[in-house]
Amino acid sequence: MSRKKVIAANWKMFKTPAQAQEFVTSFLPLVVGHDRDEIVVCPSDTSLSVVIAAATGSNVAVGAQNMYFADEGAFTGETSPVMLKAIGATHVILGHSERRQYFGETDETVNKKLLAALKHELKPIVCIGEVLAEREGGKTEEVLLRQTHKAFTGVTAEQAETMVIAYEPVWAIGTGKTATPQMAAEAHAIVRGEIAKLLGEPAAKAMRILYGGSVKPENASALMAESEIDGALVGGASLDPQSFAKIVKY
Ligand code: PEP
Repeated sequence: MSRKKVIAANWKMFKTPAQAQEFVTSFLPLVVGHDRDEIVVCPSDTSLSVVIAAATGSNVAVGAQNMYFADEGAFTGETSPVMLKAIGATHVILGHSERRQYFGETDETVNKKLLAALKHELKPIVCIGEVLAEREGGKTEEVLLRQTHKAFTGVTAEQAETMVIAYEPVWAIGTGKTATPQMAAEAHAIVRGEIAKLLGEPAAKAMRILYGGSVKPENASALMAESEIDGALVGGASLDPQSFAKIVKY
């Protein structure tokens, strides 16, 4: 079964609304008519509306980088799935390692957020991945199995078919170190095997598993050539329209 690849940009805490608008103006002509892959851009919340307006009617979808799991309430500083949906966001990144590392995100909160995103028909991009000490300690498989198992508790096989996982080895994020295509493919196979056990073979076959961690125009095509790698989640190299367009067109 061939899965359409997803190439997603995670801008992290970069770009003002004016800079985000400028990116879209430059980027859209570079990828016009490109329908081989799904393209998603995830700006910070303050630029979401501007980017959604600029990308409406194009082949570029727009997502948030995080959300809370409640619909509304006394949760100062948080944004709900209802709010994201209302402004026209279609995707949401969940459980990014920076959220886990700096903001106390756990497997349990990722699971709650995932269920909330699905309830509101936002397409989640669920991030998992081991830290360096876990890889060096031979614990990569154990960590990936635990994160996958916990994140997907309560999800139905039908829901799983539309979901996207991003395997992002934490030691490769923003460091310039990239997992080799073989290392990434091995990790993806472990995750897909666990999804098959949890949700069945059809869901596992349909689910897109992206690689993230220092993806650049220079290494994108080697990574995308692996049949287990169904796209990329790109941080630093997605901030420049030319660079991100080159990755999209790997
Ligand atoms: C990320 O933020 O998800 C990421 C993979 O960052 P970078 O591409 O900069 O390593």
